[in-house]
Amino acid sequence: MADAQTAYELRLLFKYRGCPVCALAQRTATRYVDTLFYESVLDPGRRERIRASLGLCYEHAWLTIESKLSDALGLAIVYHDLAATLLARLPEKPDSGGRERKALVEALSETRLCPACETRRTVEERSIKVLGEALQKDDYLDDYRKSDGLCLPHLRLMIEETGNQKVLAAVINHQRQRLEGLKEELSEFIRKNDYRFQDEGMGAERDSYQRAAEQVTGKRRPASKADLFPEKGKRPGQE
Ligand SMILES: [Zn+2]
Ligand SMILES: [Zn+2]
Repeated sequence: MADAQTAYELRLLFKYRGCPVCALAQRTATRYVDTLFYESVLDPGRRERIRASLGLCYEHAWLTIESKLSDALGLAIVYHDLAATLLARLPEKPDSGGRERKALVEALSETRLCPACETRRTVEERSIKVLGEALQKDDYLDDYRKSDGLCLPHLRLMIEETGNQKVLAAVINHQRQRLEGLKEELSEFIRKNDYRFQDEGMGAERDSYQRAAEQVTGKRRPASKADLFPEKGKRPGQE
């Protein structure tokens, strides 16, 4: 993805709930997984790549299965290959010696990162770099100010990578405002849980603790494919 395309896609995501960098990284990793199993059935290079990471990590394996990103046949073929790989590495007559065990643990460990995690990392790094440049333009910054801002891991990355003081100040100010707003909503949520105020009913603060968790740890994992590619006007994560 070229930088201009990344800047454009991030800008579209400013309208949606949660960190735009998380959203773009999740989308791209999902698109990648979408084709991975299909292509790995046909391409020995891809199969070798999947073997090196012993499949996908916990998060991405279950995302693929639960969100039905790949068809079951593609998954079955890949996991058949992995089952054969593991069988070849597990000894028929295990030796309990210390050195043998260490070598066995090594043989049963991945030598490369999950390919979806690798894709996500690339997108995160590019997004932070692109934001550092694009936010120097006033109209882009205006749109950014309408977003939920960055989650804490991506805010940290931004602080590490962005040398532009004006951009950094704008990003930090925006984050402060978002956190102030969230803190107020959380206070309201806590207050309304008091039996004396329970009749008031919950408003927008209803899910403030979930949005706060997203702010601190990163955007919620998409529950389905539709969550990643929402219909126009619909915000992902909105029920
Ligand atoms: Zn994020
Ligand atoms: Zn992964």
